[in-house]
Amino acid sequence: MNTKNMQPESLMMSYGYKPELSEGAVKVPIFNTSTFVFKTAEEGKAQFELAYGLRNKNEGEELGLIYSRINNPNLEILENRLGLWDKADDCAVFESGMSAISTVLLEFLKPGDLLLYSSPTYGGTDHFIHHFLPTIGVEGVGFDAHDSKEAIIELVNKTGKQDRLKLVYLETPANPTNDIIDIKMCSEVATHFSTDEHKTYVAVDNTYMGPLWSHPLQIGADMVLYSATKYIGGHSDLIAGAVSGHAEAMQRVKILRTFLGTMASPNTCWLMLRSLETLKIRMDQQTKNAQEVAKFLDSHPHVEKVFYLGLLKEGTPEYAVYKKQYTAPGAMISFTIKGGEHEAFAFLNKLELMKLAVSLGSTESLAQHPAAMTHIDVDPESRKKMGITDNLVRLSIGVENIDDLVSDISQALD
Ligand SMILES: *Cc1c(COP(=O)(O)O)cnc(C)c1O
Repeated sequence: MNTKNMQPESLMMSYGYKPELSEGAVKVPIFNTSTFVFKTAEEGKAQFELAYGLRNKNEGEELGLIYSRINNPNLEILENRLGLWDKADDCAVFESGMSAISTVLLEFLKPGDLLLYSSPTYGGTDHFIHHFLPTIGVEGVGFDAHDSKEAIIELVNKTGKQDRLKLVYLETPANPTNDIIDIKMCSEVATHFSTDEHKTYVAVDNTYMGPLWSHPLQIGADMVLYSATKYIGGHSDLIAGAVSGHAEAMQRVKILRTFLGTMASPNTCWLMLRSLETLKIRMDQQTKNAQEVAKFLDSHPHVEKVFYLGLLKEGTPEYAVYKKQYTAPGAMISFTIKGGEHEAFAFLNKLELMKLAVSLGSTESLAQHPAAMTHIDVDPESRKKMGITDNLVRLSIGVENIDDLVSDISQALD
C-alpha cells in the first residue's frame, strides 16, 4: 500500500505498526518492558553506537530497540504517527510539554549564548527563560507581535551578543491574548544572524494551533514544540509533550532526551495513540464550535472585546499573517467582560456545562481567569502591557453541542 499521498487522519489507525509482530492484535499493545533482548552481541554494539550518536545510520538502517529510556514500540509508533502531521523528518515525545521545551532550550543554548523569544510565552516557559537560563549564563531578549523585522534585528544588535544568537523561540498565537507572530519573518531574522560557524535555529511552540491548523516547519521553523497535554492528548487525562523537526536538529534533541530521561512512558504513549485517531474530527468540531461562540460573544451587550483569530478584520496586517500561517481560527477565545475581576468571577462561577479549570484543547470546554490563574506569576506591569486585565476570561471550546454551549455562556453572562 502506498501511503505517501494519504492524509495523516487516514494513517492514524495503522501507520508504523505491524500486527503480525504482536499476535495479530489490531491495536498496539502496551509494551511495559524496560529492556529488549539483542540477537547477538554485535547487534547490541551497533545499536548503542547509533543511539549515542557515535556513528551515522547506514543506508536504510533503523535504530533497533534497546532500553525504554532510549526507545520503546509505543514511543516509536507514536512518534512516527505524530510526525506525519507536520511532515517532519523525526519526532520526539516527552513526559510533559515543559520537558520538551526545557530539553530544546538546554540543547541549543550554552553559557554565553543569546536567546531571542516572542513575548508573552506560556508561564512555565517564561519562568525557565527568566529564572533558570540566566543561572547558566544564557541571556534572553524578548520582542512582541507588534515589532517589525528591523526593530527585532536592532534589539538583538543592542545586546552586543548578535554573534551568539543561537535560538529564536516563538509562541504563536500568544496565550491568552491571541496575538500572532509572523513565523516566516522570524525565520528571516534567524537567517540574518546565522554565520559559517553557527546556524541560528527557529523553534515554535505550536500547542495552540497544531498539529492541524499550522505547520511551522513548512514556513521556516526547524522545530515545532507541543504540550501534547492539550489538543494531541485531547481528553484531559494525560500530561505529555513533543518536538517534531528536521533530522539534524532532532538527532540533537533525542540524544539530550536520552540523558535527561524525559521521554514519555509506554502507558502515556498508548493513550496518545488512542487520541491521535480522533485528532482531526475533534479539532474540526472544536474550531467550528468556537467560531459560533466567538460570534455570540462579539454581539453580547455584557462583553467588551473578543480576542479570536476568526474575528480579525480583512485588510489588517494581522489578518495577512493569519492567512499566511493558519488554516482555521482555532478553539481558543479570550474576551473582556464589562466590569472587573468581580464581574469576571461571577461569570465563571455561574457556568454549568463549561468547567472552571486551566488547560485547553480538550473535548470538554474549559474557562479560566488568566490574571488570577495561569498568569498570576507575571509581574503586574508586564501583565498590563500584555493586555491581561482583571476582566479578561479565557475559553477553550470543546466538542459539546453548540446550542448547549451558547445557552450555558448566555445564562452565565446574564
Ligand atoms: C500547557 C502549555 C505548555 C506546558 O505543557 P505541559 O504539558 O503542561 O508541561 C507549554 N506551552 C503552551 C502554549 C501550553 O499551553
